[in-house]
Amino acid sequence: MSSVVYFDNNATTRLAPEVLEAMHPYLTDLYGNPSSIHRFGSQVAQKIERAREQVAALLGAADPVEVIFTSCGTESDNAAIRGMLEARPDKRHIVTTQVEHPAVFGLCQHLEKKGYRVTWLGVDSDGMLDLGELKESLRDDTALVSIMFANNETGVIFPVDAIGEIVRARGIPFHVDAVQVAGKIPLSLKKSPIDLLTISGHKFHGPKGVGALYVRRGITFHPLMIGGHQERSRRAGTENVAGIVGMGRAAELSLEHLDEEASRVRGLRDLLERSLVESCPGARVNGHREKRIPNTLNVSFEYLEGEAVLVLLDQYGICASTGSACTAGSVEPSHVLRGMGVPPNWLQGAVRFSLSRYNTEEEVRYVADKVPLVIERLRGFSALGKLAGREGSQVDARRAGEIGARR
Ligand code: PLP
Repeated sequence: MSSVVYFDNNATTRLAPEVLEAMHPYLTDLYGNPSSIHRFGSQVAQKIERAREQVAALLGAADPVEVIFTSCGTESDNAAIRGMLEARPDKRHIVTTQVEHPAVFGLCQHLEKKGYRVTWLGVDSDGMLDLGELKESLRDDTALVSIMFANNETGVIFPVDAIGEIVRARGIPFHVDAVQVAGKIPLSLKKSPIDLLTISGHKFHGPKGVGALYVRRGITFHPLMIGGHQERSRRAGTENVAGIVGMGRAAELSLEHLDEEASRVRGLRDLLERSLVESCPGARVNGHREKRIPNTLNVSFEYLEGEAVLVLLDQYGICASTGSACTAGSVEPSHVLRGMGVPPNWLQGAVRFSLSRYNTEEEVRYVADKVPLVIERLRGFSALGKLAGREGSQVDARRAGEIGARR
C-alpha cells in the first residue's frame, strides 16, 4: 500500500499511465498547431478528431461533432448557460437547483444579480428533487434548465432523462452538469432528452485543464470564447492538444472498463460504509443510498467538525474531503447538506470519501480501521462529542491514542 491512501477522487483523480503515454508525443515532438496547413500541424488536428470520437463514444453521442473541447468543467458550464441565454435574449428566467456545484450555483447567483430571475429547486432529505415542483417552475420566459446529473458531495443521482422529458415538452433547452458521472455510469445521449452536457477530464483519470461540452445537433449555440475558428468557431483559442488527446484516451479507458469498475468500486464503497456505520456511534450516511454514483460515500459524525476529522485522517496518510467552504475565515456548512435539511448535530461533521479504479480492498480496510480511532479521539476533546458516543463505543481508547503514530 502506498503512503497516501487517496479517497478524494471527486476532487480529482490520478492520471492513468496509459493517458500519460498517449499525451507524451504531443508535449514533445508533435508540437504543431492543429490549425496549420502543413502536415506537421494537420496530423495533430487528426488526433484531436480522434479524441473527439473517443469522448463522443463515452457520452453515447450520435455524432462526434456534438463535442466541443474546453479548458475545464467550469468553462463548459459557463459556456452552456451563458450561450443559451445569449441565444434567447428575450427569455430571462433560469431553473436550477439549490445543490449545484459552484460552477453553476455561483454563475446563477451572478446572473440573478444581473437581473435574471432564477428558480432554485429544493431537495428532500435524501437529496432528491420533486419533479412536480420542477414542472410548475417552467414558464414561457424560461431560457434554460440547468440541473446536475450527480451531486459532487453526496453522489446522489438525479433522474435527468425524466427531467429532460418534462423540460423538452415545454421547448426549453436542458443543460446537465455530468462532471461527477462521466466514467462512472453508462451514458447514452443519443437516446436522451439532454441538449447540453458538461464533463471534465481530470475526474476520470485524464489531465487537468481540459473539459468538454456536448451540444446536441440543431441547438443554436453562442460561443463563450470568441476569436479564432477553432472547434468549428464554437470555442476560440489554440487547443490544449496534449490535454485533449489525454482526455480522449481517458474516455476510451473508462468506457472499456465501465461496468466491471463500477461494480468493484461500489463493492469497496459499500464495505467502507458498513464498517463506518457499525464502528462509529453517531455516524449517518447523507444522500439516497441506492440512487448514488458507485464511488461516493458522504458520512456525518454527530457533534464533530468534518475539518477536524480530515486533519487527523491526514496524519494517517488518508485523503478525504468535506463539502464545506471556508468563507471569510469561518467554516460554512455545506449548502448541499443544508439544502437536504441535515439536522444541526450532523451538519458540520460531514466527510466525503470518494473512490476510484486505483483503490484497493486493503486501503478500504485501512481507512475503516483508522476512522473510528480518529472519531474516538475527537470525541475525547469535546463534551458534546462524548454525548454522541454515549451508547458505548467499540473503539478501545488506548488505540485512539495511537493517532500520533504517523505513517
Ligand atoms: N461540476 C461538478 C459537479 C464538479 O464536481 C466540478 C468539480 O469538482 C465541476 C463542475 C468543475 O469542474 P472543473 O474542476 O473541471 O472546473
